[in-house]
Amino acid sequence: MTSPQSLVILGSTGSIGQSTLDVALRHPQRFRVLALAAGSRVDVLYDQVLACRPRYAVLAGEAAADTLRNRLRAAGSDCEVLAGAEALCQVAALPEADAVMAAIVGAAGLPSALAAVRAGKRVLLANKEALVMSGDLFMAEARNAKATVLPIDSEHNAVFQCLPAGMASLDEAGVRRILLTASGGPFRTASAADIARATPAQAVAHPNWSMGRKISVDSATMMNKGLEVIEAHYLFGASPSRIDVLVHPQSVVHSLVEYVDGSVLAQLGSPDMRTPIAHALAYPERVDAGVSFLDLVARARLDFEAPDDQRFPCLRLAREALVAGGSAPAVLNAANEIAVAAFLDERLSFPGIAAVIADTLAALPVRAVASLESLLAIDAEARALAAQAVARRGALA
Ligand code: NAD
Ligand code: MG
Repeated sequence: MTSPQSLVILGSTGSIGQSTLDVALRHPQRFRVLALAAGSRVDVLYDQVLACRPRYAVLAGEAAADTLRNRLRAAGSDCEVLAGAEALCQVAALPEADAVMAAIVGAAGLPSALAAVRAGKRVLLANKEALVMSGDLFMAEARNAKATVLPIDSEHNAVFQCLPAGMASLDEAGVRRILLTASGGPFRTASAADIARATPAQAVAHPNWSMGRKISVDSATMMNKGLEVIEAHYLFGASPSRIDVLVHPQSVVHSLVEYVDGSVLAQLGSPDMRTPIAHALAYPERVDAGVSFLDLVARARLDFEAPDDQRFPCLRLAREALVAGGSAPAVLNAANEIAVAAFLDERLSFPGIAAVIADTLAALPVRAVASLESLLAIDAEARALAAQAVARRGALA
């Protein structure tokens, strides 16, 4: 076997980051961890550094990095501890890195994901917000630098598995539609009145997947699926009308591709993110992911239904932003991040999330996005407007 792949894991202390380490540590001959990066969880990062001995560890803040540095030194580790957003970009572009897992949540992960792409890495993309914000720019940079972008989001990883390798376009491949499945989240069968009273604890209690808090709320509003429609557009070059959403409460069929001859290919598996992570880590080979295998007899049935954008208006807002193009998806994403944080802080009601996003989109004209700098300025402007909308809407709630 050739030498092990060097991995950089951005967001290593999160749900995706921990699952990535779980898979990588099962195959020490294949994968070596070169760098780990996280926001603020010193204790978790400390344990990870001792378990997989990376050359670099990064934390967002200087004080947390100091604490980690001192603790690691006392434990005899020679890991170099860095701090700040610039250090994230540096480890994402390390010359000796083969693959970069981009698993920071939200816009905070965009600069480092883009740095990995610009350095021509194999980028395992979990951070869908980065692509939603910067889609055209991100994919153009990937083409220029000959980076490989492999989707980690289970739906997009499934679509990727159902498409032919080396496809020039969906038309050439004979693809008619991409069907993204959605679990429907914890409020799939709830009435509009119950949804209006939803609490953070109810919203983060996802029926099938164990995930970070932000994406769990996105699943409950179905904004997660809206972000995924945008993500699919950029990853696969699919026009919005060719991307459909199908509610599938069991989360066993991870997504489907329909071809012009009537064939529909689907990827199935247990709802465990280690499967798409292992797929992308080993691609084009396959490795044991530690997941339980699917027992279709025990499952017995698979159900499908149409999404309801009356009760879940975020899906419609995301589609509208995609069609509007330019800065609109970045504004949608920024407003959503602010609204979800306010909801989790109990400063905004659950329906207030969609209302704040709609207010923010209405307040900002659609502009062209020319660079990362202009995008970050749009992101900041949208966040400020969304915060005002939270203050207004929150006061009414
Ligand atoms: P999480 O909240 O569990 O973890 C987020 C990680 O990002 C943590 O390691 C945190 O320390 C790090 N982070 C946050 N802000 C940071 C900053 N400023 N600097 C450095 N690190 C920072 O989230 P998650 O559920 O693992 O999701 C991560 C990403 O993957 C999200 O974009 C999410 O949409 C996507 N995703 C997650 C799942 C899932 O099953 N969890 C599935 C599909 C896609
Ligand atoms: Mg997903």
